[in-house]
Amino acid sequence: MATGKSIQLSVLGGGGEVGASCFQLDIEGQHILLDSGTHPKKDGLNALPDFGMLTRAPEAVLVTHAHQDHCGSVPYLMRQYPGVTAHATIPTVRIVDRMLHNSVSVMGLLARERGIKDYPLYEHEDVEYAMQRFEGHEFDAPFKLPLGVPVEASFRRAGHVLGAASILIKAPGHTVYYTGDLCETRQELIDGLSPLSKDEQVDTLIIESTHGANDVGGTVSYQEEIYRLGVEMAKVLEAGGTVLVPSFALGRTQEVLNFVSRLQEEGLVPEVPVYASGLGRAVYEIYNKFTDYMLPEAVLRPLDKYKRIGNVWKPGVAKKLLSEPSIIVATSGMMLDNTPSALIAEEMVKSTKHGIFFVGYLDHETLGFRLAESKPGDMLQFGLEHAPVEVSMENIQRFSFSAHAPRAALQGVISHIQPKNIVFVHGDPDAIDWMNTNSGNGFTTYAPKIGETITLEP
Ligand SMILES: [Zn+2]
Ligand SMILES: [Zn+2]
Repeated sequence: MATGKSIQLSVLGGGGEVGASCFQLDIEGQHILLDSGTHPKKDGLNALPDFGMLTRAPEAVLVTHAHQDHCGSVPYLMRQYPGVTAHATIPTVRIVDRMLHNSVSVMGLLARERGIKDYPLYEHEDVEYAMQRFEGHEFDAPFKLPLGVPVEASFRRAGHVLGAASILIKAPGHTVYYTGDLCETRQELIDGLSPLSKDEQVDTLIIESTHGANDVGGTVSYQEEIYRLGVEMAKVLEAGGTVLVPSFALGRTQEVLNFVSRLQEEGLVPEVPVYASGLGRAVYEIYNKFTDYMLPEAVLRPLDKYKRIGNVWKPGVAKKLLSEPSIIVATSGMMLDNTPSALIAEEMVKSTKHGIFFVGYLDHETLGFRLAESKPGDMLQFGLEHAPVEVSMENIQRFSFSAHAPRAALQGVISHIQPKNIVFVHGDPDAIDWMNTNSGNGFTTYAPKIGETITLEP
């Protein structure tokens, strides 16, 4: 039995926030990064992890999945440290490529429209360079990291979205398990997480805490929620309205399109046209190439079943889209202003016959949250320099389809793994506090903030 060794963990981002996840492990002087994201609500250099904490080039960066808050700053990191190697699962590498090129375009747009200094943080060439440095791995296939000490890593199924992984790192005398974003629920296309085998001894567990502050998703099953959504959709469509489902491009969009199609095939939802927006379609094509990574019984319908929403930034397009009953699945999921979901909603809220159904996490500072909490008569602004619009619509509902584990499931992961140390990350301060206060039995727990370095004893 090897004797235990301590390691250092530095939090560059994702401590006490759902933001630019990035954690550095210092293993006997060798540095590896776990995730390298950007903050979805911050702009310019503020959206980056605190790379100022890096004292030199890390040896490698391991990316759990292709959501922006986990991979968005990889090209920026590699601009500074071109020698870093990157690792992710094979589907994740493909989606990261698509998401990062999209980020360059979005940042360019924001630089022009809002004069955001420092944007774009990187160019398409930087993304191309970064993608050459990526190595794709299968789940459960251990690989050696290019370090001066023998360290083995492997990706384990985390549920959540296509390709999403937790990372098991076996260093001499210390084993670390970083969950990334976890989902224990079996979704329409993607299975729930695979628990770590009981004989894997973990010294340090770094665990996400997104739903630590509330009991969301704990009582209703995913399938029950699909049928509740179907019934509510049918009511709107039969009355001649349209339903908008704001969805994240990666994960939620592909799930919603397929369960809505199933509800139509089952006759619960009328056979109206179903629309899907741009980035969600691009990711859908990648899903289509990796059906082996989905549930064996998953049915991924052909993408051409779903119509394109068109250029909703052009005046009149959103209005025309609403001229006949339909179901529109559009980004962004939290309805950030000036995105397709926001511009379609801007038109919809003027009428009482439509419905807007939110199906994922809503940050309290987003337009989506303000709309979900609005009452008829409230004035809301949907785009930069757009005049506020009066909300007439009443049918704004929230459904519990989060791709994140509810807190009871997070506690289940902890009691299954029985680590020595637990580090709570990826959650608002109240979520982290709850997890830290209620999951500590017999473990040494940490809730480090950005900028902190902690020493973890084996
Ligand atoms: Zn995620
Ligand atoms: Zn995340």
